[in-house]
Amino acid sequence: MSHVCHYCKKEIRDRDELVTASKWLSIRPYHYRCYDLAIQEIETIGNNEKPLNNIPNTVISIVMLVVAVYFLATAALGSVGDLLGVLSLYPIIMRLISYFRYERSLPAFVENKR
Ligand SMILES: [Zn+2]
Repeated sequence: MSHVCHYCKKEIRDRDELVTASKWLSIRPYHYRCYDLAIQEIETIGNNEKPLNNIPNTVISIVMLVVAVYFLATAALGSVGDLLGVLSLYPIIMRLISYFRYERSLPAFVENKR
């Protein structure tokens, strides 16, 4: 299964050059160079996508998982706590979709790409 960069329409060959970016419930794959170019254009029209497959977002996803489990497993803050728990599942779900849909099917690193 191959993934095509949303910006240049060429194939993405490994995880090293992959950036998955999310906006609401959609995820788009980019080369990291293309993402840098795309984000500059996107910023000018005020419509930015956030990268999913980087270290900070992975850390945030893990923290949100702890928050979600805390609110959903306990009675903290009552129904407000349940709502917060459900909302904190969103970044976790997006991170998992990015992994299973894009990252898992690509090799970590391919030499001699060009
Ligand atoms: Zn590209």
